[in-house]
Amino acid sequence: MLKKIRVTISVLLFSLITLYFLDFSGFLPESFSVLTDIQFIPALLALNIIILIALVALTVIFGRVYCSSICPMGIYQDIVAWFSKKILKKKKRYTYSKAKIVLRWSVLGATIIAFLFGFTFLVGLLDPYGAYGRLVTHIFRPAYLAGNNFLEAIFSSFNNYSFYKVGIYSLGVSSIIIALITLLVIGFLAWKNGRTYCNTICPVGTTLGFLSRFSLFKIQFIDDKCNMCGLCSMKCKASCIDAKNKVIDHNRCVTCFNCIEVCHRDAMKYALIGSKKKKAVETAPAFSYIREDKPKDESKRRFLSATLITSIAAGQLLAQTVTEPLLPKRELKRKTPIAPPGALNFDHFREKCISCHLCVSKCPSHVIKPAFLEYGLGGVMQPKLYFDHGFC
Ligand code: SF4
Ligand code: SF4
Ligand code: SF4
Ligand code: SF4
Repeated sequence: MLKKIRVTISVLLFSLITLYFLDFSGFLPESFSVLTDIQFIPALLALNIIILIALVALTVIFGRVYCSSICPMGIYQDIVAWFSKKILKKKKRYTYSKAKIVLRWSVLGATIIAFLFGFTFLVGLLDPYGAYGRLVTHIFRPAYLAGNNFLEAIFSSFNNYSFYKVGIYSLGVSSIIIALITLLVIGFLAWKNGRTYCNTICPVGTTLGFLSRFSLFKIQFIDDKCNMCGLCSMKCKASCIDAKNKVIDHNRCVTCFNCIEVCHRDAMKYALIGSKKKKAVETAPAFSYIREDKPKDESKRRFLSATLITSIAAGQLLAQTVTEPLLPKRELKRKTPIAPPGALNFDHFREKCISCHLCVSKCPSHVIKPAFLEYGLGGVMQPKLYFDHGFC
């Protein structure tokens, strides 16, 4: 039952957030952006305190529910693992393995240091929501648009104009390559070993894993019923059940409930544990540290002013000449790149953007595209305005 509820919620949230990225006609209302607001790193960077408290409370009470049902990258891995199970038809799927503690904490540490020093590329690269957004924008969306155009061709031949043709543009070679590598690497790990990425690399997984050690509800063995058959361990996609010693690594448990469903002796339960409640609260200041100690750089503010002024000037210039061929003769040699509308100041934009490319997929004029090195190495993949296909 628990697994059915989890799968239903996961499929629903995953489908909606994927559709939100794919939607080019605006049939999903803007209120669906709440699906992006509830993602962990965007909420953290936006200092969305309500969402952050809700996610931390969810984890401290129920464990890594975020990883089991909310994070689209986690559900993507589950889908790949499900296909792997169906195609390979292996009964013995997973085995218990020790936690890669050094690797996990090193990646988390490197991500925090990169953020503090303004190297947002690494944060954007490793943020699971941002990485999934890029998968959809650069890999799935072109296929979705091609499918739409195919249907349009068929339907219009019968004088049915329910579909209309849309252009399919390349949105940046570097981002396509990064999205493809992400798709293949995380997909391969999921195909072979389930949630390996979640429990080795993902900085959000390490953070939530730390919190979930103190969660009130946990997966537990019922000692007098368990005969140590090991079936639960074989079905644990997080490889965190040591059935021989009846130990579960709750750091890595992603609350999928596979183990409960598979145990024929009802020897596994998800129930309240009364202790360790206070320690969970002590973990929260880790986030405050990130926020409070970020370095301030006045030169970036000056850079902002120059960016805004030149952006407005370039916009006016381009608006006057839209009827003329725009490129290559109209392209200006700019000292500063043009950030997307709504970016506030450039400093703010560079700090907060995790390169999810939602704006890239939503821009109807195909003007917002991922930057390569225009913002420097730390800004690779962050969106920038390019006027080679239209104007803003
Ligand atoms: S560990 Fe990371 S990638 Fe995996 S589900 Fe959790 S947040 Fe998503
Ligand atoms: S499947 Fe059930 S009986 Fe077998 S090891 Fe796991 S909890 Fe024990
Ligand atoms: S311990 Fe159970 S609930 Fe946790 S990840 Fe493993 S199979 Fe899923
Ligand atoms: S600016 Fe665009 S790419 Fe960056 S976080 Fe916002 S929607 Fe995502």
